[in-house]
Amino acid sequence: MPEGPEIWRTADKLNQALADKEITQCFFYHDKLKPYEKLLVGQRVAHVEPKAKALITYFDGDLCMYSHNQLYGKWFTVASGAEPNTGRSLRVALHNDSYSALLYSASEIELLVQEKLADHPYLKKLGPDVVHPDTTVEIIFEQYQNEVFQNRKLATLLLDQSFLSGVGNYLRSEIMFYANVNPSLKLRECSIEEKEKLAAASRLLSRRSYETGGITSDPEIVEALKREKASRKEYRHFVYNRTGDFCHKCGTRIEEDKTGGRKVYFCPSCQEINE
Ligand SMILES: [Zn+2]
Repeated sequence: MPEGPEIWRTADKLNQALADKEITQCFFYHDKLKPYEKLLVGQRVAHVEPKAKALITYFDGDLCMYSHNQLYGKWFTVASGAEPNTGRSLRVALHNDSYSALLYSASEIELLVQEKLADHPYLKKLGPDVVHPDTTVEIIFEQYQNEVFQNRKLATLLLDQSFLSGVGNYLRSEIMFYANVNPSLKLRECSIEEKEKLAAASRLLSRRSYETGGITSDPEIVEALKREKASRKEYRHFVYNRTGDFCHKCGTRIEEDKTGGRKVYFCPSCQEINE
């Protein structure tokens, strides 16, 4: 499933194709959304906003579209009227004179008046968005300090969108590595310094991944490994999906652990538990 950085990049692409442009043609697959096709033609898209793992497309009038891609949904932006080469089934199409934005495959799609957004069951429980430029390290640190979360195991807490929104499976392993915190710890077992490092890593690595197109490793590590002709899989992350490979920082072999069915990756030396 895409994480915050990927959703933000999709929103950028959609904004380039749709923002401030008048919709010339519109298609919805679901019968209950069909009545909106006529209504939206002639309206402009104001902008597209990423919200954790969902996207909100605002229209000129008082309407907006909530879409959540779940596991399989995928947006394509192409020249107006062009069709991407895909066997997926089309759910939404927004066309203007220059571009077509097409949403394929199983997704949750709703049209609602903008005033109702705040009551949306998915949106209303979201914690601070780690990629949002207004989300400071201080705001994130407050979450790590919040009493409500102290008894939670860090590895599962980091996937909880009400704690920090936009963090998913690869970011959580990378964040804990960067902060030198062991994934087996509960939040209350972390020191203030560790929480400060976790907050800083949450912000830095999410923004970095957004800016680099998914790379979380330090730029120096990436450059050094590229000089050695390493593959993207080798340099992209510190620990995620690197079980048995050597830690870029200390050379220890990376290990994995299964928490709630999803693997968490860590370096047993860099993330040793401090007694
Ligand atoms: Zn290490």
